[in-house]
Amino acid sequence: MKVFATRRIPEAGLDLLKKEGITVEVWSGPEDAAPFKHEVIAVARDCDVLLSSLTESVDREVLEAGGERLLGVANYAVGFDNIDIEAATELGIPVSNTPGVLTDTTADLTWALLTAIARNIVQADRYTREGRYRIWEPNLLLGFDISPGGSGQKKTLGIVGFGRIGQAVARRAKGFDMRILAHDPYNSGAIEEAEGVEYAEFEELLQASDFITLHTPLTKDTRHLISWKELTLMKPTAFLINTSRGPVVDERALVRALSEGVIAGAALDVYEDEPKLQPGLTDLENVIITPHIGSASRDTRDRMATMAAENAIAMLKGEKAPNVVNPQVYESGAYKRRTARLKRA
Ligand code: NAD
Repeated sequence: MKVFATRRIPEAGLDLLKKEGITVEVWSGPEDAAPFKHEVIAVARDCDVLLSSLTESVDREVLEAGGERLLGVANYAVGFDNIDIEAATELGIPVSNTPGVLTDTTADLTWALLTAIARNIVQADRYTREGRYRIWEPNLLLGFDISPGGSGQKKTLGIVGFGRIGQAVARRAKGFDMRILAHDPYNSGAIEEAEGVEYAEFEELLQASDFITLHTPLTKDTRHLISWKELTLMKPTAFLINTSRGPVVDERALVRALSEGVIAGAALDVYEDEPKLQPGLTDLENVIITPHIGSASRDTRDRMATMAAENAIAMLKGEKAPNVVNPQVYESGAYKRRTARLKRA
C-alpha cells in the first residue's frame, strides 16, 4: 500500500504511516513549491491514498486519474475547497480533513491580527527598527481600542461563520469586554446557546461592528461574501480580519475600499489567488498581510499530520476515516466496488 504526500508534512505523520508498514512517498520538489497539476495526476495514478494539501487542486481529472486503485484523499487542512467533493463522492472516494486541532491556533492568529491592525503594531515595529524612535510622543501611532478603553464604550465584534474557529474567537473577545455579534445561517443554534453572543442578520452585523472577522468555509455561497456593497455598509472606522479563505473577500473591492477610506483597515492571512497579491495591496499602510499561517504552530502542524495519517490508515483498511467529510460515500456501490479488493486480501 502506498500513500503519496504532495507536500512534506511533519515527520510525525509520515512516521505513523511507516510504522503501519505503509510505503510513503513525498513529492520531491522544493519545499516552497507545490506540484503542478500534471504531477498530481501522475502520482494519483500510482498510490492508494493521496495525502493532499490546500495548494493542490484535487479535481475530477485528478480523482479519475486515480482509477480504481485510489482508496481516499486525506487532506492536510480543515478547509477542503481544493477538492471536488461531489466528484469524489460520485466516484466512491472518501475525503478527510483535520478539524478541531487547529481551532485555537487559528483563533489566536485572528486575535493577533485584530490587535495588530487596531494598534498599529506592524508600523510601530518598523518605526522603531528604522531608528525613528527618539522621544515618547503624545500623538505617536495612535490606534483604536479593542476593549472599552478611554471612551468607556464597548467595541462590537462581528463574527461571520460561527463554527469551531468563530466560536473560539468569541471566547477571546469576551476577555476584552466586547459586544459580540454573530451571523451564521446554518448554525444559529450555536449562537443562541453561546453566552454573551447575539445573533445578527448579515447587514446588521456589517453596519454595527467595529471589527468584522470571517470564519466561513469557501463555498459557492461564500465566494465574494464581502464585496464592494458590503464594504460600503461597514463603518468607516471598522476593520476587517480574514483568516478563512481569500476568495470570501472581493480583493479588488477591498483594495479600493482601503485606499478610499471606506473602512479603516484590514488584516489578511489568506488571498484570492494565493500566493499572488492584489495589485495595490502592499502599497497600503492600513493593511497587515501574513502568508497563510493560521494553523502554523509546531504542535498543531504535528497533530494535523498525525490526523491526516490516521485518516489515510483507515482508508487503506477500508474502515471509516475518523474525519471523513463525505460520509455518504460509504453507502455507495462505487465505494463498495473500489474497496472490494481489501476484503479479498
Ligand atoms: P466550521 O465548519 O466549524 O465552521 C464554519 C462555519 O461557517 C459553520 O458554522 C457554517 O455554518 C458557517 N457558514 C457557512 N456558510 C456561511 C455563510 N454563508 N454565512 C455565515 N456562516 C456560514 O469550520 P472551522 O473549523 O471553524 O474553519 C472555518 C474555515 O477557516 C475553514 O473552512 C478554512 O477554510 C479556514 N481556515 C483557515 C486557516 C488559515 O490557515 N488561515 C486555518 C484553519 C481554517
